[in-house]
Amino acid sequence: MEKQFIYADNAATTKMSDVAVRAMLPYLQEIYANASSVHLLGQRSAAALFSARQQVAQVLNCAPKEVFFTSGGSEADNQALISAAALGKKQGKCHIVSTAMEHHAILHTLEALEAQGFTVTLLRPQADGIVTATQVAEAITDTTCLISVMYANNETGAIQPIREIGALCRKRGVLFHTDAVQAAGHLTINVQRDNIDMLSLSAHKFHGPKGIGLLFAKSNIQLTSLIRGGGQERGKRAGTENLPSIIGLATALKDAQEHMQQNTAYITGLRDALRNGLDKIDGAGFNGSREHCLPGTVNYSFQGVNGETLLSLLSNEGICCSSGSACSAGSLEPSHVLLALGLSHETAKSALRFSLCEYNTMDEVQTIITKVTEAVNRLRR
Ligand SMILES: *Cc1c(COP(=O)(O)O)cnc(C)c1O
Repeated sequence: MEKQFIYADNAATTKMSDVAVRAMLPYLQEIYANASSVHLLGQRSAAALFSARQQVAQVLNCAPKEVFFTSGGSEADNQALISAAALGKKQGKCHIVSTAMEHHAILHTLEALEAQGFTVTLLRPQADGIVTATQVAEAITDTTCLISVMYANNETGAIQPIREIGALCRKRGVLFHTDAVQAAGHLTINVQRDNIDMLSLSAHKFHGPKGIGLLFAKSNIQLTSLIRGGGQERGKRAGTENLPSIIGLATALKDAQEHMQQNTAYITGLRDALRNGLDKIDGAGFNGSREHCLPGTVNYSFQGVNGETLLSLLSNEGICCSSGSACSAGSLEPSHVLLALGLSHETAKSALRFSLCEYNTMDEVQTIITKVTEAVNRLRR
């Protein structure tokens, strides 16, 4: 018999929703033509592509022509930073401000830019996992060409003051990019309200397919193309459009937007129960901000316990969660995010992240609490 799993690792990836799967199916075997083909079937693909672009633009409050579909969040992050850097260089501005808790798609791209002569300032978040707008303001210099601050963190769920930072960047005339991969589908994003110039998101974090994402870039920003070839995506991302996945992304995003209030209320209820249960474990320390956070993400350190060991004990019990980010899992390095919050190596290595979604139940949460409590006690003995 198939083993029953409790999936509490939704910040790593999510199960696809039925609506997204169903929306994609016709584009695999019926409307499969190349959207660039001139024939009628091609025109149908092109029309579907346009309407998907319109749909996501509406959710983000931008123009359809400001949406560039990519292979995911990592590609969008790479393209945003590389484009802003190229624009900065032309003006003799080679300083970038970001944070020490960004995803590796940002941090490793910044390292590559540093090797090309750019100077990077990485802000350290406060103890609650939030970088303040004041910190950003103080880091801006005459040569700053880009501020990149994530919308919400993937390990702690801490939500950053994006609107304030956006207003600041607008005032100082600096481009503002945000990695909204964890926020999209979970928080209302409005690029105009928040003065966001560039934004990355990825479908598989909100019940859409893997391998598809987008970069929003304001129409006045000249993007650098990372992939050369055909003229797709207004010449900024070559390659035949992944129409089934684009339809899946648009459908999942719209669905998430329409059910956001209801999902947030439900997931917050689960989350609060989980926090209550984990708070009762001796030596359990909450990581992040209890108020300014995503509804479903919870991160705790368990004093005197190795997170990886705890993770595998829980895995044997059918509970899927995470210690540190998926990308650094398996490595012995503690999470760079938790270290940036000021945690010691030992405390950071004892951390677990649970990320819930609307498919989880209160029963599952109670099981998680029981199993974590048992496992922590067992490891301490
Ligand atoms: C998952 C994630 C990414 C990477 O997105 P992919 O679509 O998997 O490439 C980037 N940033 C954050 C914050 C993420 O959580």
